[in-house]
Amino acid sequence: RCGGSVKRISIFGATGSIGQSTLDLIGRAPEQYKVVVLTGGANIAQLADDAKRFRPDVVVTAYPDKLDDLKAALEGTGIECAAGQEALVEAASRPADWIMSAIVGVAGLAPGLKALEQGTTLALANKESLVTAGPLLLETARRYGATILPVDSEHSAIFQALVGEEMDAVERIVITASGGAFRDWPVDQLANATLAQASTHPNWDMGQRITIDSASMFNKALEVIETKEFFGAPPEMIEVLVHPESLIHALVGFNDGALMAHVGPPDMRHAIGYALNWPDRGHLPVDRLDLAKIRQLTFRAPEDARYPALQLAQDVMKTGGLSGAVFNGAKERALDHFIAERIRFTDMAALVAGALEELMRQNVINLEVTLDNVRQLDHLAREAADRIALDLVT
Ligand code: NAD
Ligand code: MG
Repeated sequence: RCGGSVKRISIFGATGSIGQSTLDLIGRAPEQYKVVVLTGGANIAQLADDAKRFRPDVVVTAYPDKLDDLKAALEGTGIECAAGQEALVEAASRPADWIMSAIVGVAGLAPGLKALEQGTTLALANKESLVTAGPLLLETARRYGATILPVDSEHSAIFQALVGEEMDAVERIVITASGGAFRDWPVDQLANATLAQASTHPNWDMGQRITIDSASMFNKALEVIETKEFFGAPPEMIEVLVHPESLIHALVGFNDGALMAHVGPPDMRHAIGYALNWPDRGHLPVDRLDLAKIRQLTFRAPEDARYPALQLAQDVMKTGGLSGAVFNGAKERALDHFIAERIRFTDMAALVAGALEELMRQNVINLEVTLDNVRQLDHLAREAADRIALDLVT
């Protein structure tokens, strides 16, 4: 960005939770930004409303069969409309100063890589990119001189705690977890947990998939792997701490015994806004915490038996290669099967473990981390998870 000029912004996954929070921030200072690209999925009404308000050069829906609806909704506006995965990647090549990667799942990887090839700044909410293809993403950023800024709240917290520090002085990285719906359940009852129970978060209202991933800690498992990939931290350095109040997002421990904790309101606009204003800080419209009113913060260790996903994350980090792609793909399918009420809550971890074992035996985990191989392993992992699920129910 040339000094003082307007910042060009593209948002991939604009209609989602992170995308909408990003637009909320942009909309508060419209004179500072020019929106270049907005993308969404099937929610054409939302995408078209946002396009009319923010006036991007191009709007892309992931789904080709929605293109006619999108064109109809934006008729007469002069805004270019496109659809499909290739159009998403093409849109990522349009020059922008700051690109938000907030598509959900492995679908975010290809546009993210293309964005990095511009040598620009990529604000990365799409944790699946790092989990499935961390080395590829970092190497692409390095080669093209691009910057990746973390937007996941824990990783933004770590990043902020590391400002002005050297990784050499870091001893441990602690990411916190709410503990999810079953943090107080007897462990031997987890196998009986219903879909409705797993879909209810003790602290807040989120989408169903992320709520279940919070109960199983599969989301935290992804974040542990994300920490290893983004910060280059060895697996044994990364810890998970259950912190039901969710106000400390992460802590970084240094070799002199200091622990730097990031405390903040549980509002994603903090992490998004930090990335938007980086390397400066700017005013953000988030709650200010009154710690005297909150009075206490509590912590406990995550039990292995309650959260087997955390051990699987350790296995993935030690195996490396494409095991993150297998982990993520199998986890998505395990979640599909649980949501369809075909398998029990506790079967999800078994499905993921089984898929990892099966693909290790086939010797495909240590192929090179390329976009094609990530897609291939994602596919194989889903197939393996489906087979194991079928075995469980028959
Ligand atoms: P969401 O489901 O609310 O939105 C996802 C967006 O991706 C939507 O715009 C949707 O249209 C689009 N999309 C879905 N499938 C697509 C596909 N196949 N191709 C192209 N676009 C597609 O998700 P979210 O909660 O905003 O999360 C986005 C990403 O940010 C995820 O990777 C998530 O793990 C991460 N994240 C979210 C939060 C949060 O609080 N919501 C916090 C940390 C990290
Ligand atoms: Mg997070």
